[in-house]
Amino acid sequence: MVDRHKSVVLDGPAGVGKGTIAKALARRLGYQYIDTGAMYRTAALLALEHDIPPEQPHEHEIARLVLAHPFLFVFDGPLLRVFHGDREVTDDIRTAEVSYLVSPVSALAAVRKGLTDLQRQMASQGNVVMEGRDVGTVVLPDASHKFFLTASDDIRADRRYLELQQKGVEISPQQVRKDLARRDHLDSTRKLAPLQQAKDALVVDTSNMSIEEVVNCILGKIGN
Ligand code: C5P
Repeated sequence: MVDRHKSVVLDGPAGVGKGTIAKALARRLGYQYIDTGAMYRTAALLALEHDIPPEQPHEHEIARLVLAHPFLFVFDGPLLRVFHGDREVTDDIRTAEVSYLVSPVSALAAVRKGLTDLQRQMASQGNVVMEGRDVGTVVLPDASHKFFLTASDDIRADRRYLELQQKGVEISPQQVRKDLARRDHLDSTRKLAPLQQAKDALVVDTSNMSIEEVVNCILGKIGN
């Protein structure tokens, strides 16, 4: 594949700060930001709304629903808004129900194939910062720059707990830790495109770094 455009890839587990860092990078570089997790979350949201169980006999039905409309990621002041066709899904895809359902939905082959093709097509339109779990390994193996973000389990759970508290979500720190561990386990042990570090990705341990430090570290590595 000829990579005419620049692609900066950020993969890593839940709660590592990928989203915040990828958005900051996209703004600083002036690249299109693509959150592949939001696309899988939209598939899970649609399965939930249509009462479709996240199981293999229904994989094509869920894939059809999520592929029926294009995705758009739009910066709006400090916010990042996610659109699926005309519908804004920014908040609907962040509920606890969707977070619970997203790992089984994203393990379905038809959903993965459809969204992987779509993500490649989106990356072929221009320069992108793309974040996810399998972007460096499967979606864009020829990406210009690949980073794999890590942080200790404690720090990831603390960050996610703080984020949910700021949003007014009532949840205990223990439950946050349990949910992260469940999602990491499902995402890294699934057969198709599991969460995995690409061999040529640069690992950045963000445990003791601020967002600004991580962003500057990555910009330094990619020569900006
Ligand atoms: O990044 P975020 O935590 O929003 O991703 C939600 C879920 O989407 C992940 O837990 C994983 O199940 C799925 N996902 C995936 N492949 C990606 C991105 C996300 O399977 N590239």
